[in-house]
Amino acid sequence: MTYQGLIHRYRLYLDLPAHAHTISLLEGDTPLIPMPRLGREFGCDLFVKFEGLNPTGSFKDRGMTAAISEAVGRGAKTIICASTGNTAASAAAYAARAGLRSIVLIPEGKVAVGKLAGAIAYGAEVIQIQGSFDDALSLVVEITQKTPIALVNSINPYRIEGQKTASFEICDVLSSAPDWLCLPVGNAGNITSYWAGFKQYQKGLPRVLGVQAEGAAPLVLGHPVEKPETIATAIRIGKPARGEQALEAAHESDGRIIAVSDAQILDAQCILASEGVWVEPASAAGLAGLMAETAKGSLDAKGKTVVVVCTGHGMKDPSIITESFQAPKVIPANYEALLDVIGE
Ligand SMILES: *Cc1c(COP(=O)(O)O)cnc(C)c1O
Repeated sequence: MTYQGLIHRYRLYLDLPAHAHTISLLEGDTPLIPMPRLGREFGCDLFVKFEGLNPTGSFKDRGMTAAISEAVGRGAKTIICASTGNTAASAAAYAARAGLRSIVLIPEGKVAVGKLAGAIAYGAEVIQIQGSFDDALSLVVEITQKTPIALVNSINPYRIEGQKTASFEICDVLSSAPDWLCLPVGNAGNITSYWAGFKQYQKGLPRVLGVQAEGAAPLVLGHPVEKPETIATAIRIGKPARGEQALEAAHESDGRIIAVSDAQILDAQCILASEGVWVEPASAAGLAGLMAETAKGSLDAKGKTVVVVCTGHGMKDPSIITESFQAPKVIPANYEALLDVIGE
């Protein structure tokens, strides 16, 4: 049967109201890529769940198909979200698909170029806030309480419903849940969704390793971070909306939430790319966490099945790569010059 999107595939498992009217870009069904070379270093069966291959380049599309389907079904005409970038692009795309007006609030100057471009291309009205993501989120919560505008941030319960499907897909491919699931944690909607999904699907439960960036690690520190800082802009969040649920998922699963440095994140990004999987910095946090924990001896992956969730595509944030490398060599357009530079 041809694939018709994740609501269609998993409708029975999703708590969506009867009025929901499916708006889909055939999101989901992303590959679980085996990483045998990297896996050997940990002595485990390692897989990457490559969420960057969703229609707008991040896992946000899973929740957005559900949130927009519900909003459209109840007659909403305008949707709004606060975003570090990927939610904006996703909300804009699904709103465009549904013929809705979309408004996105982003922290001034802190959004990766590929995400901003996406939001604009899909026709969103983009507003920069002189403040953080957390400030932007407070504003959209307030405006959606006082006007008929629909909120599509992950505090919207239908976002969580849609995002659960990633854990269903992993179980469907592996026939059971993995031993460990490693993923980045920002506003904590995704870790909440995975955990809810695994519990509901009843194919076993993984231990969950949630990974924050050191400069934006409220769940590790135990208090909000006023001015979160990290190159991993998608997890540059100081006050996670679903922080409690993230801690619960870590605790219930006998896992944990840890922090890694930006250098560790960039290193993990390089390692993934060296095996053909280019992800944006935040998306490499899961692997960075796995590397940090195994190096310390506090996580033994040997003989285990481990899934690293790579949440967004590398093309979302190209400047993180191009800014740190020299421009490609320039040579005259002749064969000798080419042979000379290649040196074979
Ligand atoms: C949104 C996002 C995250 C963080 O997900 P939360 O649900 O906010 O924890 C991580 N990586 C990428 C690429 C994202 O877009």
